[in-house]
Amino acid sequence: MGCDLLIVGASFAGLACARAAALAGLRVTVLEKKAAAGEKLHTTGIIVKDAVDSIEWLRELPPHLVRPIEAVRLYAPNLRYVDLYAPGYYFLATDTPNLLNWMIDSVQGLGVQVRLATLFENASYKGRAWEVPLSTGEMLTASYLVGADGPHSRVAKALGLSCNEHFLFGVEHEYEKVRLQENFLHCFITRQLAPGYIGWAFAGVGVTQIGLARRMPKDTAGPGSRQVAINTFLERISAVIQPADSPLSVRAGMIPCGGVLKKVAKAGALLVGDAAGMVSPVTAGGIHTALHHGAQAGEGIAAFLLGKAEDPAECLVRQYPHFRSKRVLRWLFDHLQSDWMFNQLLGTTAMRHAAERIYFHRKGAGRS
Ligand SMILES: Cc1cc2nc3c(=O)[nH]c(=O)nc-3n(C[C@H](O)[C@H](O)[C@H](O)COP(=O)(O)OP(=O)(O)OC[C@H]3O[C@@H](n4cnc5c(N)ncnc54)[C@H](O)[C@@H]3O)c2cc1C
Repeated sequence: MGCDLLIVGASFAGLACARAAALAGLRVTVLEKKAAAGEKLHTTGIIVKDAVDSIEWLRELPPHLVRPIEAVRLYAPNLRYVDLYAPGYYFLATDTPNLLNWMIDSVQGLGVQVRLATLFENASYKGRAWEVPLSTGEMLTASYLVGADGPHSRVAKALGLSCNEHFLFGVEHEYEKVRLQENFLHCFITRQLAPGYIGWAFAGVGVTQIGLARRMPKDTAGPGSRQVAINTFLERISAVIQPADSPLSVRAGMIPCGGVLKKVAKAGALLVGDAAGMVSPVTAGGIHTALHHGAQAGEGIAAFLLGKAEDPAECLVRQYPHFRSKRVLRWLFDHLQSDWMFNQLLGTTAMRHAAERIYFHRKGAGRS
């Protein structure tokens, strides 16, 4: 079975890449190890306004899959809070499983072959084509290979490319609707429970999502060390948000936070999205970059295979984000985060400006 472009991973980066390449005329196959793209999700699924503004595909999203949230309520460890707004800005909460299903339907409509429940294990480059053996005994061949297979990329390992080493670990519970202020993304600073990140709660699409993420020490990546004290967190925030029942489902996963990796491409192959470390080291948001650079990779690969441009493994990866200032902010947060300091500083002008810069990319014009 042959195709022009073989993509591993049917999530944001892989599907954006598939769509762009198919629109440019390539024969595209996507391998996805899960039986359904929306199964066992590890993401909260919030999409920032900047992504909607810059990614045309998102403007086609069916409205019932999203819910705009216009403001942030930021809580200090002592639960005092400040409300942050930026006129015109919003975050989109998403029905993420159905959003991914919609994306799959959309690329299939362009002729992309999406093979669910199909694990990528290895690949070898022979005679200017990639050979990818499947457990069924079938051999796939492709002119170009893209690893969009997330933070622990098997493609990166198989091809000898760089692998993520620095992570946050996040756990999120999904509840039937819980009473809370629905127009806010509620964010909780607590070094004790979420060192290096925050806790959050918000009214999603038909559910309430409550989660917590923390920095992972580099040398303790074993499952036993992935402890996130979400129950203690729920107790801590119970004065403001209190789920009545047990969670309907749990999402959990590792978030690469060390920035884009050193070696993310070789002739005829590249990594994109989390596989390449393309997540903001500060906000831990990776959907926007995965969609944006996924689409650019698809366009670049199509131009290359159609003889109109050089291999994007050479040129495109130079445009991957470096997150220089965000890596500095991450270092500062990792080393200086202090519950006492946030209790003192919340509500000060300096703190509000810093928070608005992070949440709204300088577009903040706070009130309250
Ligand atoms: C708890 C948590 C909350 C988050 N919340 C947000 C948020 O609200 N907003 C935001 O912008 N970002 C968020 N992120 C980050 C965001 O989810 C990721 O940056 C984004 O999903 C990256 O997309 P991707 O397509 O690169 O990889 P992924 O979404 O990780 O997708 C990789 C795909 O590859 C498949 N795959 C993996 N290995 C193989 C294999 N060997 N063979 C076949 N298929 C394979 C996987 O099953 C998966 O479908 C969060 C992350 C976590 C962990």
